[in-house]
Amino acid sequence: MVTPLLRWENVTVMHDEVTALDQCSLSINEGEHIAILGPNGSGKSTLIKTITRELYPRWPVPRCRMEVYGQQIWNVWELRAWMGIVTNDLVHQCTQPYPVLETILSGFHSSVGIWPYHPITPEMEARAEELLDLLEIRHLKDRLLTEMSSGEVRRAVIGRALAHRPKALILDEPCNSLDIAAMRELREVMRTLAGSGVTVILVTHHLPDIIPEIGRVVCMRRGRIYRDGPKAEVLTEECLSDVFETPVRVFEHDGFYHMW
Ligand code: ADP
Ligand code: MG
Repeated sequence: MVTPLLRWENVTVMHDEVTALDQCSLSINEGEHIAILGPNGSGKSTLIKTITRELYPRWPVPRCRMEVYGQQIWNVWELRAWMGIVTNDLVHQCTQPYPVLETILSGFHSSVGIWPYHPITPEMEARAEELLDLLEIRHLKDRLLTEMSSGEVRRAVIGRALAHRPKALILDEPCNSLDIAAMRELREVMRTLAGSGVTVILVTHHLPDIIPEIGRVVCMRRGRIYRDGPKAEVLTEECLSDVFETPVRVFEHDGFYHMW
């Protein structure tokens, strides 16, 4: 039997008095691209922050388990090296007057910018060069992040998250506030990444972000996992009307789903 990348049982997370995650159980295998879908406030970001151990579950709770590769106790730095994460907060923090190449290299040191005490090896440089091509941002190599469009900045920050070759790439609402062209470009980047070996964990409230390579969708509603299964079984009008708490219509075109 393959050990899952992530296995949770009965995870409950509170923000003060608010139960942001309520007894969530979830298992993700390596190579299984997955979307976590739900309306604002449904607990998606809390789920991600609990995976990366920025937040911790309520403890002790009977039968609560949180494993990564079968292991419950992790050195948090080691754990984070297994995961690359891009959130809107991180994109904001990284939007500093540093060039794209330096931003990617800073991923090796979990810093923003490279400082004299941050060694950069030829292997790190070679990896950063590889990422410039993978993310199609070679032409922006020396451009400062403060002088780039939002879509370009996001690609640079994705490069930073991929520097140390994580097993999983977690993208929290990556297309938020992008215009239609930038959104399409970013979806193409996600498709390339999904084909490159990293497990993509996409968090969104927007159906068209769910690229065709994502086969499984987990729907969140009011802090609970409401539905978890193959995309075609989950993205139905009945399920999404419940999840978004408003009647919706759904259609599929060219492997992408849309809702209105
Ligand atoms: P989503 O990412 O799906 O929009 P969140 O995980 O951010 O949802 O939020 C889930 C719930 O937790 C919401 O009710 C939200 O108001 C609450 N919440 C999130 N962050 C905090 C915080 N730092 N302090 C208090 N409540 C929070
Ligand atoms: Mg969120």
